[in-house]
Amino acid sequence: MADDKAISRRRFAVGAAGLAALPVAAEAAKPAKPAPIPVGKPFILTTWDFGPGANAIGWPMLAEGKSSLDVVEAAINHVELLGDYWVGADGVPNEVGETTLDAMILWGPTHDIGAVGCLKRVKKAISVARKVMEETQHTLIVGDDATRFAARMGFTETSLTGPKSQAAFAKWAEKGERSDAFGPEPIARDDRLAGHDTVGSIALDAAGNLTVGCSTNGREFKIPGRVGDSPIPGAGAYGDQAVGGAVATGNGDVMMRFLPTYHAVELMRGGMHPQAAAEAAIKRIEDAGYRISGGIAVIRRDGVHGGAKTGWKDNPFSYSVQTASGNVKVPVA
Ligand code: ASP
Repeated sequence: MADDKAISRRRFAVGAAGLAALPVAAEAAKPAKPAPIPVGKPFILTTWDFGPGANAIGWPMLAEGKSSLDVVEAAINHVELLGDYWVGADGVPNEVGETTLDAMILWGPTHDIGAVGCLKRVKKAISVARKVMEETQHTLIVGDDATRFAARMGFTETSLTGPKSQAAFAKWAEKGERSDAFGPEPIARDDRLAGHDTVGSIALDAAGNLTVGCSTNGREFKIPGRVGDSPIPGAGAYGDQAVGGAVATGNGDVMMRFLPTYHAVELMRGGMHPQAAAEAAIKRIEDAGYRISGGIAVIRRDGVHGGAKTGWKDNPFSYSVQTASGNVKVPVA
């Protein structure tokens, strides 16, 4: 005991001596306070090939001075109703052939968030998410209860099954296999997911207010009840009124373990360039050994943007940014 004390006193003495040298070194290593991010001019960013069409819906609204909340909702509604297989109705069926939706929306000024997970039988998932945000103190409502909530808010219940989801399910069901989500984790092996997309949208309006949103029907042949990364704040999407936003797509089961959109936004807050922040958030996942397909798009509130992806060698992940100078589609390398 006495010896322990002696040791700890000695250690303290060494530590204190070491500390004496610290102030200079610590002072030198202290990161410079990041410069404040300029207010920025209106923009809308949307992921994948959905970008140009969704931005064409959102940009005129921004130009008219509409709120970024209405803009992101309208841009994502447009994609949800396109009938694309990967977002909205008539897409990605689960293991029993049902299509279910995940969505989230974040309003910068209050940092309020609304989300739905495994939403059934309602088409405009992002609009139900907005109702969760605006009408309740809750953040996330899931499953049949999300459907009941939507009905209370006046949404119409309708089947999300259609020719595309039926055909995909019939082909898959013929094989008689269970969901590949029962397989081993995609570490040291590729995730082998055939495909999966999410639409993510980020807008800044003329009043300087930021909104971030995303919507998906998730992963093909998922186990019923599965909720992906899209409605999880910091995973599928994240934003901060003072910094900017980020949206994700890809293997959400893995990506949500790393909160890549939160990670990227916080790196930007610390002064990192959006491109470097996107790369660092994706690298964190790769460094943990995961071999998935996934990507993020990031935009600072001054309109500077960047993107990064992992996997998807043959799949051209892109995002589009529209400002007063027009729309630019950015392929992510
Ligand atoms: N991240 C989505 C999910 O896992 C799907 C995707 O974006 O590809 O639910």
